[in-house]
Amino acid sequence: MALDHVFSPLSIKGVEIKNRVLRTAHGTNLGCGSLSDDLIAYHEARARGGVGLSLLEASSVHWSGPMTMHAWDDSVIPRYRELMKAVRPHGMRMFSQINHMGFLQGAVWSQPWSASEIVVNPASGMTSRAMTTGDIAEIVDAFAQAARRAAEGGLDGVEVHAAHNFLIQQFISPATNRRTDAYGGSFENRIRFFLEVLRAVRQAVGPDYVAGVRVGPHNFPGGLNVDEHRQIVERVLQEDGLVDFIDVSHGSSGVASHKIIGGMHEDTGYELHMSVPVTRAVARRVPTFVTGRFRTLDDVDRAIARGDADMVGMTRAHIADPDIVRKTLEGRAHEIRPCIGCNQGCLGGLAQGRIGCTVNPAAGQETTLNEDLMQPAATAIDVLVVGGGPAGMEAARVAALRGHRVILAEAGPRLGGAVQAARLAPRHGGIGDIVDWLEDEMDRRGVRVLLNTRVDRRFVEEAAPDAVILATGSTPRMDGRQREVPDLEVDGVGRDGVVSSLQLLAGRHNQVGGTALVLDDVGSYEAIGAAEFLVEKGAAVTFATSHASLAPQMERALVVKPALERLTAKGRFTLLTRACLKSVGENQAVVGSLDGWPDAAVPAETVVLVTANRPEDGLAGELAAQGIPVHVVGDALAGEFLPHAIRSAHLAARSL
Ligand code: ADP
Repeated sequence: MALDHVFSPLSIKGVEIKNRVLRTAHGTNLGCGSLSDDLIAYHEARARGGVGLSLLEASSVHWSGPMTMHAWDDSVIPRYRELMKAVRPHGMRMFSQINHMGFLQGAVWSQPWSASEIVVNPASGMTSRAMTTGDIAEIVDAFAQAARRAAEGGLDGVEVHAAHNFLIQQFISPATNRRTDAYGGSFENRIRFFLEVLRAVRQAVGPDYVAGVRVGPHNFPGGLNVDEHRQIVERVLQEDGLVDFIDVSHGSSGVASHKIIGGMHEDTGYELHMSVPVTRAVARRVPTFVTGRFRTLDDVDRAIARGDADMVGMTRAHIADPDIVRKTLEGRAHEIRPCIGCNQGCLGGLAQGRIGCTVNPAAGQETTLNEDLMQPAATAIDVLVVGGGPAGMEAARVAALRGHRVILAEAGPRLGGAVQAARLAPRHGGIGDIVDWLEDEMDRRGVRVLLNTRVDRRFVEEAAPDAVILATGSTPRMDGRQREVPDLEVDGVGRDGVVSSLQLLAGRHNQVGGTALVLDDVGSYEAIGAAEFLVEKGAAVTFATSHASLAPQMERALVVKPALERLTAKGRFTLLTRACLKSVGENQAVVGSLDGWPDAAVPAETVVLVTANRPEDGLAGELAAQGIPVHVVGDALAGEFLPHAIRSAHLAARSL
């Protein structure tokens, strides 16, 4: 594909953008509120990779609505200058995004501010305070000052956030604005605050500086739909020179956050049915931006060719691989490390403190781990990697990148490990993209792969490598014991029809019955995948979890709500929380309660156990006893989570 559209430059009010690749604003918390060196390095890596335009993480304009970055005082200005010093030589343009979260996020133990008094913040349970006209004037000015700081700091433009159920949208939507003064009631009144913000921003930055807006239609409660959004943007464009671009997103923070950052179950361009009707309405009058799980420049090119927008977001794709543009220009598009849309590293990491990435351990740690900075090893050594799952392949890849001679031995007939089964779960196939990429990397990096090769102590002694990386994975515990009730003897778990999720997905057990029980002690993707597989096969599924809710580990990845919608769609899904397995009998299981409720008999021709795996690390002890140095990585080290598997392997290989 020629990619003519994606590589044609775009000029927004004299700001030349070299291509149509956009990174939309996204929280990283790399500076815990400030624009830290880590955050600069994070953006610089993507600038080096060839991105045309990036938006800096949403910055709060006022202390009453804090976010992961603050732009509410002048201390940010010299930091903007540092940022621009780092990214400008690479030709990447950078806009600031300014925001106030309204009732969604107040300062610590402070009442959140909003258009009206509403109890809508489940996190704090607090009622928001209806802003006085004095408060409104203060926030309007805060937006203007934040925009001025972006301009003074040398950023190329500013975007006012009026989407995602944040403060400005809270004013515009009648569901959240119940005011009876000049800021509530009619459309013109509800949009008044937004227009005052835009006019104040324009006043602060002057007529020649780029200023635009992000809006976001949705049909969820409190939302403003596509038609209402057409009206909003028309009203904004009525005032000459007020805005220079329109960025259209989808989803609603709190109500439908999963539509803002759709997981791997969503297709490329999943937001377009909501955003494109708005962008097309203003096409050719003002440049437009859209986004929605775009991962390749081909897809971006097609969207632009169709006239969906002038720029297309590839945000998570660039967390996974900062070099998408550069690799494509060099004819190496097939080498791009794919984002699998798992949201565990980016959103999951953020919830734990700072952004990360399942497939790219360097994301958010560019100052120490960026692969461009990787030095060849002082001495090349012979490395034997045992196990060809994601951990083994990542270890082999990094060891080879550092110049070592690497052999990877895998017991089975193909590479990919547990992911090859996990990818068979409905709508979870995307997880497999990373093992396909890693497998190709084995070739590209010159790793010698031995399939059908089970490694034992004698094999290692004969191969006599200088270092061994053990990535032998883990096996499901099939005794039914759970973390909370480790001593419970579960009768009947050895019988036919009791399987692990991987056995289920790989079809390595008798036909799925009409009724099934999934017992989940892990709370992650695995049990959701197994349950969905069973539901799709037509089984009535009881999902018993030791946790207080469905898959709580995945809550922060924003995939639980959509999974629950899919699981319950056919009306044959029952969720039992705080539950344990007591026994398995003929076509039924007995489920107990961790909170003391009476036991329940559940119809279950198939029982799927998703409990903590047992690390397969026996060889480590044997080798250590022989004095052979061994690094244990991946599931063989701990847990059953892909981000950990890849990260531990990456770090071990770097240490050689
Ligand atoms: P991880 O996520 O840590 O990579 P996986 O379970 O996905 O773990 O992959 C581990 C791989 O290691 C599996 O493909 C398995 O066949 C392989 N394996 C396990 N034991 C050995 C061994 N002794 N020799 C070679 N390969 C092994």
